[in-house]
Amino acid sequence: MVGSDVDEVERRLRAGELACPCGGALAPWGHARERSVRGVGRLRPRRTRCGICAVTHVLLAVSCLLRRADGVEVIGAALRLKADGGGHRPIAAVLGRPVSTVRGWLRAFASNAEPARAWFTALLVQLDPVTGPLPVHANPLADAVEVIGACAAAARRRFGVVGAVSPWQLAAAASHGLLLAPALSTESINTS
Ligand SMILES: [Zn+2]
Repeated sequence: MVGSDVDEVERRLRAGELACPCGGALAPWGHARERSVRGVGRLRPRRTRCGICAVTHVLLAVSCLLRRADGVEVIGAALRLKADGGGHRPIAAVLGRPVSTVRGWLRAFASNAEPARAWFTALLVQLDPVTGPLPVHANPLADAVEVIGACAAAARRRFGVVGAVSPWQLAAAASHGLLLAPALSTESINTS
């Protein structure tokens, strides 16, 4: 996961500042298929290759989630409305997205809610070890949304506003874009 400033990502890639999970520096290795992400625009993600382990990685901007055609901001807005008690039909109407698409987001995140809550709680403690307990909600999805918001606030307190990303971009980055993916597990937390 990388920032959404394409020029800055390219500069850092060419300077060898982007690292593979193995620790090796990533080098440019062509591009992935161009795609259109609603709310973000047309993207042609960078493909990269590690100089040590030779594995290739596609760089995904934090404005996106893996295999989703909508940007993370609109998906996050839907999750926030659901946490506040909204149903998928009114949420779809408010956001101007198909009912089936919104229902898919909500179902996918609901099945990840418990690992996501545990995962972002661990991140929250790293960001702010003296953080207080969060309000408990009637459903796990709302608890997960609450802790994602708390992580974003803690990141701002700790790192300041320079380079700050939105709560949902932080959630995309920390989950490797897997917020709605079936494979979400607590092993894949990205605290860097
Ligand atoms: Zn590597």
